[in-house]
Amino acid sequence: MIKNLAPKLTDAEYEKNFADINPPFAPHNSKMEANRCLYCFDAPCTRACPTHIDIPAFIKKIASGNMRGSAKEIIDANILGMSCGRICPVDSLCEGACVYNERDTEAIEIGRLQRYSIDWFYENWDKTKHMFKAGKANGKKVACIGGGPSSLSAAFYLAQLGYAVTIYDKNDKPGGLNTYGIARYKMSAAEALKEVKLVEHVGVKFKQKCEIGKDVAIDKLTKDNDAIFVGVGLGETEDLGIPGEDLSGVVDAITFIDELKHKKLRDVRIGRRVAVIGAGNTSVDAATQSKRLGAEMVMVLYRRSEEEMPAYEYEYEIAKKDGCVYYFLTAPKRIVGKGAVEGIECVRMKLGEPDASGRPSPEPIAGSEFILECDMVIKSLGQKKRGDFAKKVLGLKTDGRGRITVDEITMQTSKPKFYAGGDCVNGGREVVNAVAHGKRAAWAIHKKLSGEDVDLDGLWKNETIRRKASTAEHQYA
Ligand code: SF4
Repeated sequence: MIKNLAPKLTDAEYEKNFADINPPFAPHNSKMEANRCLYCFDAPCTRACPTHIDIPAFIKKIASGNMRGSAKEIIDANILGMSCGRICPVDSLCEGACVYNERDTEAIEIGRLQRYSIDWFYENWDKTKHMFKAGKANGKKVACIGGGPSSLSAAFYLAQLGYAVTIYDKNDKPGGLNTYGIARYKMSAAEALKEVKLVEHVGVKFKQKCEIGKDVAIDKLTKDNDAIFVGVGLGETEDLGIPGEDLSGVVDAITFIDELKHKKLRDVRIGRRVAVIGAGNTSVDAATQSKRLGAEMVMVLYRRSEEEMPAYEYEYEIAKKDGCVYYFLTAPKRIVGKGAVEGIECVRMKLGEPDASGRPSPEPIAGSEFILECDMVIKSLGQKKRGDFAKKVLGLKTDGRGRITVDEITMQTSKPKFYAGGDCVNGGREVVNAVAHGKRAAWAIHKKLSGEDVDLDGLWKNETIRRKASTAEHQYA
C-alpha cells in the first residue's frame, strides 16, 4: 500500500513520457551520417568497443546500401548489437574514441547507426535469419547457467561452431537483464526477446524456470556436459539496513523497473513523492521513470557528493531534465510511517579520508538530521553479488567481494570445466562487457575442446575464429 498515490495520466501522456529516448535514424539520415565517417585505419572506435565490432566496416556498408553485410558485421562480433546500439554508454566507448572529437566536431553517431542496421535485420527477419545457422554438430555439449547477456553470447558463438548448447535460466523469460532490467524508454522486453530468438535460431535450447542446485543437480550438469559457462549476473538489490525498510511503499529498483516493463503503465503504482536511495545508473532509471509515471516530486539521495556519483554524466542529465531533485551528502537514517511510508529521516554527511574504494568516505554530521516527506522509497544501492551461489552450489572460487575468480584471457574459473563471465565476474558493468566475456569464453572452450590453435592472447587475432564460425560471410562482405 502506498499512502498517497500519484494521479493517473492519460494514455497519450504515458505514451509520450515513455517514447523511445533516442529515436532511430530515418534511412536518408543514416546514409548522410554513414557518409561522414572517415573509415579510419586501425580505427580507435573499434578498439574502444569491448566486443571489437569493425565499426568503419559496418558503417561503410550502410553508406553503400549493403544492409545485410552491415548487420552481419555487427552480429558476428556482438550478438546483442541491437541492445548495445540502444543502451551502450557510447560517449565513454566508441563515440568517445571517434577521431572527430579531436577536431571539435560531433562524433559519428555510431550507436544510432548500429541500431539502424540491426533494426533493419530484425524487420526483415524472414529474409535475413538464414545469415546465421548452427554449425555442423561436433558431438560436444555445453551448458550455460543464467539466461542473460554473457550466456546468450557464449551460447550463440558456440552453437555456430557446432556445439549443442543449453541455457538453464531461473526466470520465466530468457534474456536476463535485457528483458527485465533496462528502463522501458530505452528498450522494451519485446525488443530484447528478438535477440533471444536469433540465439534460438542457431540451435540453442532454453530451459526456463530451471534453477541449478534445485531443479538440476550440479553433479549431473557437470557429468552431462563437456564445458559449463556461468553467467548468473547479480542478485537482489542491497538492503538499506535501516529501521522502517519493511514498511509498505518501500520497493527495490530492480523489481520496480521489471514491473514497469511487464505491466500496463497505468497499473504500476507510484507515490506522489518518491525518494530514491543511491545515485548509480539504475537509480536514474528508477527516478526518471517515477517522474514519467506521474510522481510530483522525485528526490534522489546520495551520501557522497556530485563528483563521486557513479551514474554516467548523460544519465544524470536525463534525470535532471526530468526534474528529479538530487540531495548530495545525504544519507537515510530510518524510514518513518505507520504501516506505510510517510517520510524518510536523513542525516547530512561530510567527506573524510578515502576508503577502500579510493573515494572519500562519507561521515555523518551529528545533529544534522531532517525529515523528507515521501510516500514511496526506491532502494537502489547496487545489487548483491552471487558469491554464495558460486561457492556453495557451483564450488567455484570467488574474490573477497563475491565475484567469481577467472583467468582474464580464457574466462576459466577455479574448476577447469567451468568458465564464467559478465556481472558475476566483473561485479556489474555494461551489457557490452558481458557480451565480450561470453564471446571470449566461447573461443576458450572451443580451443580446449577442439584442440584448435586459437590465439587467445590477442583479441584482434581472435577475430579469425569468429569469422570461421560465420557460415555465409562471403556472401555479404
Ligand atoms: Fe568513423 Fe569515427 Fe570510427 Fe573514424 S573513429 S572510423 S570517423 S566512427
